[in-house]
Amino acid sequence: MKTEVFTQPKLPYAPDALAPAISQETVDYHYGRHEKAYIENLNKLIEGTEYADMDIEDIIRESEGPIFNNASQAWNHIFYFFTFSPDGPTEPEGELRKAIDRDFGSFDNFKKEFVDAGVKLFGSGWVWLSRDQDGKLFITQKSNAGNPLTDGLTPILTFDVWEHAYYLDYQNRRAEALNKLWDIVDWEIVGNRYQ
Ligand code: MN
Repeated sequence: MKTEVFTQPKLPYAPDALAPAISQETVDYHYGRHEKAYIENLNKLIEGTEYADMDIEDIIRESEGPIFNNASQAWNHIFYFFTFSPDGPTEPEGELRKAIDRDFGSFDNFKKEFVDAGVKLFGSGWVWLSRDQDGKLFITQKSNAGNPLTDGLTPILTFDVWEHAYYLDYQNRRAEALNKLWDIVDWEIVGNRYQ
């Protein structure tokens, strides 16, 4: 996507559609205010720079400092919120299911390892499931605005573990907040990203 005039896409579900996993209040603050601010900051920061004509993924790979932070946070939040739906399939199928079973032993074990990685990430950040060029899957922890694009990997799933993602609904209960997200992850969307 071009970032020259980067805009915030409208969510493909109603703001209350993800409750109780994510409340309408959290969607409104997290996507409506936090994410909006990252996009606005990014647009201001890149105006008149070499980054103004670049795809946002290339900005993430090539920038650092405030431009990286705002570009990556803008991209990460769209990727995160566009993973969910109130009525999608709750388990992976096909090639992604085979890869999860191969690389993590089972879907249940994958979910446990993914949440554990998110719970153990110290401070703010993101836990990611990504694939390499051969289709091998990796769980990685990234602090702050981090994104596995900078490691040459293709992200397919992420959970936001910044406190702003869950504090209104779960206060300090990060593990509970992350485990509830399994109710709303749309595995058809995640599977399409694996192709
Ligand atoms: Mn966030």
